[in-house]
Amino acid sequence: MAESTELQARETIHAGGEWRAATSGATREILDPADALPFAVVAEGDEKDVDLAIAAARRAFDEGPWPHTPVTERAALLRRVADLLVRDREELGRLEAQDAGKTVEEGRVDIDCVADAFRYFADLVAGEAPGRVVDAGSTDIHSVVVHEPLGVCGMITPWNYPLLQASWKIAPALAAGNTFVIKPSEITPMTTIAVIDLLVEAGLPEGVANIVTGPGHSVGARLSEHPDVDLVSFTGGTVSGIKVAEAAAPTVKKVALELGGKNPNVVFADACATDEGFDTAVDQALNAAFIHSGQVCSAGARLIIEESVRDRFVTELARRAEKIRLGRGTEDGVECGPLVSEQQRAKVEMYVESALKEGAVLRSGGKRPEPSPQRPENGYFYEPTVLDHCHREMRVVREEVFGPVVTVETFRTEDEAVALANDTEYGLAGGVWTSDAGRARRVAGRLRHGTIWINDFHPYLPQAEWGGFGKSGVGRELGPAGLAEYRETKHVYQNLAPKPVRWFAG
Ligand code: NAD
Repeated sequence: MAESTELQARETIHAGGEWRAATSGATREILDPADALPFAVVAEGDEKDVDLAIAAARRAFDEGPWPHTPVTERAALLRRVADLLVRDREELGRLEAQDAGKTVEEGRVDIDCVADAFRYFADLVAGEAPGRVVDAGSTDIHSVVVHEPLGVCGMITPWNYPLLQASWKIAPALAAGNTFVIKPSEITPMTTIAVIDLLVEAGLPEGVANIVTGPGHSVGARLSEHPDVDLVSFTGGTVSGIKVAEAAAPTVKKVALELGGKNPNVVFADACATDEGFDTAVDQALNAAFIHSGQVCSAGARLIIEESVRDRFVTELARRAEKIRLGRGTEDGVECGPLVSEQQRAKVEMYVESALKEGAVLRSGGKRPEPSPQRPENGYFYEPTVLDHCHREMRVVREEVFGPVVTVETFRTEDEAVALANDTEYGLAGGVWTSDAGRARRVAGRLRHGTIWINDFHPYLPQAEWGGFGKSGVGRELGPAGLAEYRETKHVYQNLAPKPVRWFAG
């Protein structure tokens, strides 16, 4: 928390249709991770601001028009938001890049995906049947199961895909007719603030969309525990997710958790039998591990490779990792940005150091790069790092590093490959590379992860559910299940010919 002398503090708390400063007057500088310099100052909200925002969201839900707005109108509004995102794509993409340390191209892709999420949920609700009639066994009974909005949704998001993660919550919550209060990561709030303005511009009624910028321990914790919040949807680390679930428990609110991952990328030798196959598998392993400097929940951070091809594969992977062009994401030709913060880089350094002590062999990276015109000295850069000869007892293999580090383990048989890939307390995503279609389906069926890619890595579809097994979370985002998170289910049983039951004789 700090006061900036040069930058004007913005009012970034939106409650009941008004932009405000923090009640306490506190502010926070937002740093560009490429040079550690502040580029914005936002309100540093606390519990009091959360209470105001929740009261506004509660009023808008209990008394406002949004929950009862016809679904076609709700869908039309979501489509208008998608159009506004497309209109502002360049500006938002650049802002996301600066805030989260991405390349501008990654920022643009993020905004396209955000617009897709709004369109997907618009189409999903607009095309739905209004309820499911169930057979009650009598023509005198009309029985229907309907879905209703939950109420006030609390949303807490991380810094790696700030607006994308927010959109996976905001779009289904609004499609279902809820109101919400969102708390973006305190270090990357800028695009979430911007999207609130777009929602207002699209015509969302007052009090439906609210935001409180501020830290997790106060703003996030208050959102999780507040009795007037009906659901808390959290994306972030597993440790914070457990705290959210604990804070939410006494009020028995619904909890959705999208947490960390330690994702295996399993490569069978048959996938590398041709030069083209080898090149594709290496290229995608590079992408799996190093896109956005590995700060991706589904990063392919564990390369699990058949022993016979390990040397050739890892040599090529390391050669290409060394060539990745690191720098400020807004500079031409840069392929990878910095880590998001000094704290995040220190964590990565700690893991690499511990891996080397435990016997890992460094094949590339393992250090900060030299500064260059594209890489300011104070930026939080770290070289793409390949650690060979790893094993499952190492911390770097077991825990989520969330940085540009890939570990290499080997197997000899399909059973060994599956056992290694499943040997994690997480279960978010995993990849399988093989030219054998039967093996691909067999292995995919045995992996205990929420998304399995066969001969690919990283793509997701808004119409397919996203989420984790094990400590990677509870619930799903995207797809029909991602909408269901934001709804209550109600059974309406109507007796068309009521008569006494005479259970009691008197
Ligand atoms: P984090 O857990 O530190 O923070 C996430 C959010 O939670 C932030 O807004 C933070 O302020 C808030 N928070 C922190 N403590 C809190 C508390 N006690 N109560 C309520 N809120 C609290 O995570 P991060 O470092 O911002 O993000 C990285 C993590 O997010 C990684 O573990 C990554 O795997 C995970 N992630 C998961 C997915 C997914 O889809 N499963 C997607 C993106 C990121």
